[in-house]
Amino acid sequence: MLTKYVPDKYQKSIYTINYKKLKREGIKCLIFDLDNTLVPASVNEVSKKLKDFINDLKIMGFKVIIMSNSPKNRVQIFQKALMVDAAALSFKPNKDKYEKIIKLYGFKAEDIACIGDSITTDILGANKMEFTSILVNSMSKSDHYIKFFNKLEEKRILNNLRKKDLLVKERYYD
Ligand SMILES: [Mg+2]
Repeated sequence: MLTKYVPDKYQKSIYTINYKKLKREGIKCLIFDLDNTLVPASVNEVSKKLKDFINDLKIMGFKVIIMSNSPKNRVQIFQKALMVDAAALSFKPNKDKYEKIIKLYGFKAEDIACIGDSITTDILGANKMEFTSILVNSMSKSDHYIKFFNKLEEKRILNNLRKKDLLVKERYYD
């Protein structure tokens, strides 16, 4: 079943997603992956561009949450600087943390969009939860918190998706 890895939308980066359209589609909450989605995995600070961007989303009325498989000390840097709620060590695509978020904020599945760079964690997890899943390209090749095996697995599935014409890199859709 390859379709569970196929995102509802695929965009170049967090900055090219049509958030007005998401709003019209009824999305109230945006759950962002951290590493290689909001910032390159090696970066430890928040740029003005990112800060302004997150602020604009808040002004639009979205609840913004960072959900990362990275450890707490890393996630907290961004949580504080961007003044958003965040979950560390999320074990995506495991459902537990997603279900906690739904309960905590009282959202329904159709209220939530998840944005991330990995089909085996961010997209699979969001699809399992029946959230809107949005894939973006990785901001860098290295990701400290992704094991070598997982990278191979991600590559293998991407290859199969391409062969079946289900997902082709850089063929964006919204
Ligand atoms: Mg990531």
